[in-house]
Amino acid sequence: MSSSLNFEVLIPRSLCEIENTDKLIVDDEGLASFFITWEKGIVSDLKPLNIENKKPTKILFPRFVETHSHLDKSFTWGEFPNFKSNYEEALSVNLEEHITRTTKKVLDRAERSLNLALKNGYRAIRSHIDTYEALEKNIWAELFNLQKEYSSKLKLQFVALAPLEFWDTDNGEKLAKKFSIHKGILGGVVVPPFNKKKIKSLLSKMLLLADKYQLEIDLHIDESTSDPGAGIKVLLETIDRLNIKVPITCSHLSSILNLKDNEIINLGRKIAEKEIKVIALPLTNFWLLNRNDKNTSLNRPVAPIKQLQKSLVDVSIGSDNVQDPWYSFGNYDPFYLMTCAMPMLQLSPWERLTLSSFFLAPSRLLNLSWDGLIKKGCPADFVIVDAEKWADIFSSNLTKKVFINGELYC
Ligand SMILES: [Zn+2]
Repeated sequence: MSSSLNFEVLIPRSLCEIENTDKLIVDDEGLASFFITWEKGIVSDLKPLNIENKKPTKILFPRFVETHSHLDKSFTWGEFPNFKSNYEEALSVNLEEHITRTTKKVLDRAERSLNLALKNGYRAIRSHIDTYEALEKNIWAELFNLQKEYSSKLKLQFVALAPLEFWDTDNGEKLAKKFSIHKGILGGVVVPPFNKKKIKSLLSKMLLLADKYQLEIDLHIDESTSDPGAGIKVLLETIDRLNIKVPITCSHLSSILNLKDNEIINLGRKIAEKEIKVIALPLTNFWLLNRNDKNTSLNRPVAPIKQLQKSLVDVSIGSDNVQDPWYSFGNYDPFYLMTCAMPMLQLSPWERLTLSSFFLAPSRLLNLSWDGLIKKGCPADFVIVDAEKWADIFSSNLTKKVFINGELYC
């Protein structure tokens, strides 16, 4: 086991921080040449590499953070396929899967997913776990054991994805109390069409419960093609009325794309003002929403990342489902996500805000102790790939090495 390692690497300029930039060479794609050293898991030196006609042939990234996944149903596609590939059918097949669900099956799926995620370069994952009355009672104890088991390599956060009504029951309160010890997050779905009065009342109860136990909330909201922004508008009204401060994440927030530009900007300002964080999930949105088997259309709602960023909203990009009724593909691979999402959403990898949504915003969203910026004193938690330009990253034959706490993991 070597305690000191060093590399000549390229690092995206917006993902690193150094004091003296005098001799720093940054290429046209925003990749800067560095000499990096780490000892005992911590970066001990980071300096510009300035040798004429010599460019490193490796790119270094901080290990990735997945803001939105569903470990509990990953890899169920074989048993529970959804060949119609639309939202309604996904939900219906998902409910069929619930009937056969056991704690053991969920743990097997989660472990398989986490091992892949580690190998592919993730350091933290937030996962929603379907939560309903008939769920086996021991599941949360087992999931928190799993969280502990992986904690030296990967930080795992759980969101209990329940019907909003659940948070107004005794079992909901009991789970919230348990979550106050384990830092679990309350989840739910707010998708139109809905009864506005009823949703307002349920959201109020959920927010008050979160406030009582000092918990965060993460909602699947406005993952829809109709009623643009109906969910977020109700949520904002409810927060205003209650006048409480609960940390909130809005996952999806897709339909607001169909609002007028000035409406999106205004809504974005309110979202930023309330410090609500947003996760855009382009893969599932593009796959499930507005599906038309006869006509090809580009009309897919996805959170308007650039407008939201312009309104100072902290936006992350996540993967969502992996090989289950909601999304047939994926492999807990951040490079797959970047390869699909960047061209899909016209996000350029040499733009600071693009990289922020893949690296820095996710670290903030999960409240990680390291923000993902590479600098002296940061943890040596890296993915190093054989590449010298962005095109190499988005090719299929990427060779990579993952370092965890400074040691080669794979
Ligand atoms: Zn989801």
